[in-house]
Amino acid sequence: MVSKSRKVWMLGLVFILVLLTACGSAGSNDNQANGSNTSAEGQQEQNDSNTNEPVSEEELTSEVNIYTARHYDVDAELYAQFTEETGIQVNVIEGKAPELIERLKREGESSPADLFITVDGGILHTAKAEGVLQPVVSDVVDAQVPAELRDTDSHWIGLSTRARVIAYAKDRVNPEELSTYEDLASDKWKGRLLVRSSSNLYNQSLMASLIALNGEEATEQWAAGIAANLARDPEGGDRDQAKAIVAGVGDVAIMNTYYVGHMSVSDDAEEVKVAEQIGVFFPNQDSTGTHVNISGAGLTKHAPNKAAAVKLIEYLTAKEAQEKFSSVNFEYPVNPDAEWPELLQSWGTFNKQSVDFAAYSEYNPKTVEISNKVGWK
Ligand code: FE
Repeated sequence: MVSKSRKVWMLGLVFILVLLTACGSAGSNDNQANGSNTSAEGQQEQNDSNTNEPVSEEELTSEVNIYTARHYDVDAELYAQFTEETGIQVNVIEGKAPELIERLKREGESSPADLFITVDGGILHTAKAEGVLQPVVSDVVDAQVPAELRDTDSHWIGLSTRARVIAYAKDRVNPEELSTYEDLASDKWKGRLLVRSSSNLYNQSLMASLIALNGEEATEQWAAGIAANLARDPEGGDRDQAKAIVAGVGDVAIMNTYYVGHMSVSDDAEEVKVAEQIGVFFPNQDSTGTHVNISGAGLTKHAPNKAAAVKLIEYLTAKEAQEKFSSVNFEYPVNPDAEWPELLQSWGTFNKQSVDFAAYSEYNPKTVEISNKVGWK
């Protein structure tokens, strides 16, 4: 069968499989696309293949092209397994999410991309709002991914979730002292709190969720309290906050759980020690729930290899791939049939925030404004 993928792909082919382990760039942007600069071009484009019909096996092409802002080894491993099982080649271009969205808009109908993969529900929402996605029509996906982890119109599908929690020094902090994100802004934690820069997207989405739950005024007061309680000026990533706890710089840190998992299996003995010496606390269990974010895949509006792309989403959300995401990257699976790795099981289940991911992008500019105002660097 002849691929209907555009051959311009071949001209500009940049086949990048950059196997970077650490995470940073996805969460380090301070200029994410938030709906500004929408070009009229994007809206004028027609796409006659953009129907809501399920795709059939006969439409399967021999490749699928991904624009991704994720950069984990496990993703590349899963793509390779998919190729082995289906014969469908997976081509990957990595970049920062806002740039990839702009690229999709710029390329329009001639874009070779089939899937847009990124972290952060706000960015997935932005991609949808920018008109670069189309619905994924698949009973398999619907059965594998709970509705709250899919876009309402299936423009994007969750691949994994992550929890932003409070890590604490096991030898100095009694977890009974811990309660909520809000409490971290109280005087009790003065000079004891560690968190990375407010310009980091993980913190911006956390703050956006608090705006959605508590309002702007309360969140501004909260951010002022966080800035006032810091043990040091923000530096480094989430991992560095955990290391600073063990170094005695501070007692508690706001961080994503999967970094604790990464460190627990690190080749670096120091990191293993850090993972052992910090506890993981899920905040707001008696109130609004722990902040969660999502990784997801969107089907691009002009996907030339639509059937193959949907098949890949089905593959990535199946039990086996989900268990791999979770056991290698320590993210939470979206598929409820997938078993959690031992470490995640040891932390237990927890109540999650129920905030529409769209709020993460909606309030993003406000989080920047608040951080600047209160002096959270
Ligand atoms: Fe990360």
